[in-house]
Amino acid sequence: MSDTRNGAATAPLILICNDDGITAPGIAALAAALDGLGELFVVAPASEQSAVGHAITVRDPVRAHPWAFSVPSGEVRAYSVSGTPADCVKLAVNQLLPRRPDLVVSGINQGPNTAVNIIYSGTVSAATEASILGIDAVAFSLCQWQGGDFEPAGRVARFIAEQVLRRGLPPGILLNVNIPPLPSDQIAGIRITRQARSRWEESFHERVDPFNRPYYWLTGQFVNLDDGGDTDLDAIEEGYVSVTPIQYDLTAHQHLDAFRSWSWDAVPE
Ligand code: MN
Repeated sequence: MSDTRNGAATAPLILICNDDGITAPGIAALAAALDGLGELFVVAPASEQSAVGHAITVRDPVRAHPWAFSVPSGEVRAYSVSGTPADCVKLAVNQLLPRRPDLVVSGINQGPNTAVNIIYSGTVSAATEASILGIDAVAFSLCQWQGGDFEPAGRVARFIAEQVLRRGLPPGILLNVNIPPLPSDQIAGIRITRQARSRWEESFHERVDPFNRPYYWLTGQFVNLDDGGDTDLDAIEEGYVSVTPIQYDLTAHQHLDAFRSWSWDAVPE
């Protein structure tokens, strides 16, 4: 891949974002893994924004501060942003980047973004925001809640990013990639999967603050409701990288005709 330092204007511009915050090990691993693949630019939240979903900041200012960020080959331009992952992508694309990026990558998240977690995920939402803006995007997550080695996941991320840069994605479609927490030589392969049906069985811990008022802390148990065998959860369980093509068009297209057949001719007065 050519390099802008050699005067070539062809190096793809790659925006790197996440939801764990700019100091998280996963974003350092992702940037390091993509070193040399193009011109890298990091715009990430100043503090952890996990599970904020697609929230955006509209009632407060969003501030961006230049941040010292380096990869093995040298310094990468980076900004720490006071907002959400979706804010980061909007601000980067509209204001901070020198031109429109060729690819937006998000992660590598600490923890899986499989099944229903996709909808809560800030990592996926950064990539979704890019897709809404018409830019190819991939979200990467390491399926381990704490610690772990991000380097094998980084190699997977580079392999997939290269392929996306080469082939491009269909309009409105992004890739949600989950990587099992295994050494490279133990990863069984890469599978195209669908999002598993699942939910959290929630429970709230009730506690009491120093002023004697109750407060609540959400916890829960993840439940796989899917026995399909071809889901993101199945792939991870069997040691495969899971690649799920997803979209932000939430229309239930398969039910449009059924609902059109209801009675809609009378508008209540
Ligand atoms: Mn996270």
